[in-house]
Amino acid sequence: MAGSGKFFVGGNWKCNGTKDSISKLVSDLNSATLESDVDVVVSPPFVYLDQVKNSLTERIEIAAQNCWTGKGGAFTGEISVEQLKDLGCKWVVLGHSERRHIIGENDEFIGKKAAYALSQNLGVIACIGELLEEREAGKTFDVCFRQMKAFADAVPSWDNLVVAYEPVWAIGTGKVATPEQAQEVHVAVRDWLSKNVSAEVASKTRIIYGGSVNGGNCAELAKKEDIDGFLVGGASLKVLPCYSYGLCQ
Ligand code: PGA
Repeated sequence: MAGSGKFFVGGNWKCNGTKDSISKLVSDLNSATLESDVDVVVSPPFVYLDQVKNSLTERIEIAAQNCWTGKGGAFTGEISVEQLKDLGCKWVVLGHSERRHIIGENDEFIGKKAAYALSQNLGVIACIGELLEEREAGKTFDVCFRQMKAFADAVPSWDNLVVAYEPVWAIGTGKVATPEQAQEVHVAVRDWLSKNVSAEVASKTRIIYGGSVNGGNCAELAKKEDIDGFLVGGASLKVLPCYSYGLCQ
């Protein structure tokens, strides 16, 4: 069963780029042919959000890579949901493994951010995924379900939320999950949603895959019924077919 809605491709630029390299990437994206039945979103570093918003085609929506848990104020170094919306962001990436495992964000903190973003109509790309040792210990589902539960306990609605399954061992390693490995987790997550949230949410929520996706492997992954899109890191810094799944069908 696939989630309803368009295929969703997000480019996560992480902490990369300069004004010049981003201007080049935006101009390549502006001239790229994107399939009409694919939602395309890019996630630049905060400091370039305004530059990208002001130069990128409206066809592509913009995601922030993080946000604060509530209204802005005396929170040095943080960026509020209101500020992101003011700049024209439609989405925010939350729970990315780099924030969980390098910065130390926990499930509850991530859940709070997701709840607040959704309450303010900012869409959430909610990332989940297991470490290599967790997969090897047979804990993949336990970890993904625990992370899903933290989102489920916090969010007011699933209408504007896309789940991104990103096995940590596949991120930035060139070691992509096989289509079967990804499909297996996507089915399990959808089943979890059905049992723990509702059949309706399970059937309409898009579950996208991330972890070493590129123009060469996206078509095979996209053939799997429960893979509803991609979150692409390294390869999204170049205009590659993975931005428009249709181009590599
Ligand atoms: P990658 O990153 O495509 O470079 O593996 C994916 C991600 O972190 O979202």
